This record gives sequence, structure tokens and C-alpha cells, in this order.
Amino acid sequence: MDLICIDMDNTLIDSDKTHIIGYLYAFKKNKLPKVSIKKIKKYFGLVSSEIVKNLFPEISGQKLQKILEDNYKYFFKQRHHLKAFRGIKKTLSILNKKYNLVLISNCSKKEVIASIKKTKINPKLFKLMIGSNEVKRPKPYPDEILLAEKKLRQKVKFVIGDSPYDIIAGKKAKAKTIAVLTGNHSKKDLEKEHPDFILKDFNKILKILK
Ligand SMILES: [Mg+2]
Repeated sequence: MDLICIDMDNTLIDSDKTHIIGYLYAFKKNKLPKVSIKKIKKYFGLVSSEIVKNLFPEISGQKLQKILEDNYKYFFKQRHHLKAFRGIKKTLSILNKKYNLVLISNCSKKEVIASIKKTKINPKLFKLMIGSNEVKRPKPYPDEILLAEKKLRQKVKFVIGDSPYDIIAGKKAKAKTIAVLTGNHSKKDLEKEHPDFILKDFNKILKILK
């Protein structure tokens, strides 16, 4: 069975609200100047430390740690907003019969487990779930994919995600890459990374993996 690595946020799960409230709360609590939601969303797909550093390049060290901790805390308080996209549970169960599925996320493993639980996606559909804290360099580096390959002792065939960082990571791992348009990144931005396929949503994967 071939290996498919699947991004979580905005590929399988609608998680914008939870994450945005988390960042806004953390920024307010740490007395940072206001940033627009649009600007925050632009960096979604990166790990939280990179999102904060992109928005506030001057912040580092303890202050950065404090912001990340507050954001993390608020994620758990706001996780009731998380929702699985329509049809993805069925699509995953169809894929699961023919492929080894691995979830690769730039959220921490704890956030991944909480998100999957909250959205009632069966965790057993995945051979592995890999969080950003399990590798040295999260996406856009390919380390999460390489870890999946190492653990399952097989090469990845497809990588699917909503952000350019998923596509960059997939290409570095020499996978075929599939972009979905259910996140905050436009078709134009995704095209710049030359994915092999661009799909309206995750469910359309069944059409290419017949
Ligand atoms: Mg994503």
C-alpha cells in the first residue's frame, strides 16, 4: 500500500476560528499592537513560532515563549470551534483501504490529538499522526514526511495540503504533491509552488487516486 501524507488544518479540519482567537488573545495579553486577521491567516500552515516571528520580527526569547504558551492555552479553550470538512471522514475511510495514511501537522502532537478527537475523526484511519514537536524542522522542511517514511519503512507517494509549505515540503521529499483550496492560500499562490494537482477540496482526491 502506498503512503499518503495528509496535512490537518484547513485540509481536513476547519480550524481558522480556533487558531485566530488563540493568536488574537495571546497578542492582546502580551500587549502587542493590533494585527489584522487577514495578515495572521497569510502565515497559516507554518508552526506558531514562525507565525509570530513573521508578524513581529523583533520578538524573541522569553517574550516569544510567553506568547506561544498563551496561544497554546487558548487553543484548548477554543477547540469547540473545530469542524471536520464535509465528506472528509468518508473519503478517509475509502482511502484507508488502499493507502497507508499519515497525518502530518505543524501543530504540536497534543493539538493534533485534541483536534482529531474534537472533530470525531477516527484516529485509527491513520497509520501515524506526526506533530511539529516530533521533528527538528517542521514544514516547509520535509522532516515530518521523512519521519513517516522512516517509521513505516516506505517512500511517500503523495503529499496533500492547503498551504504552499505543504507543497514545498512534499517536493523536497520527492512526493507527488496535491494542493487543496480549502485554506487561506489562493490558487495563484499555490500555483507558484507547482503542485502536481490543485483540487477544490480534499474529497476530490478520490478522482485522481482511482
Ligand atoms: Mg494546513
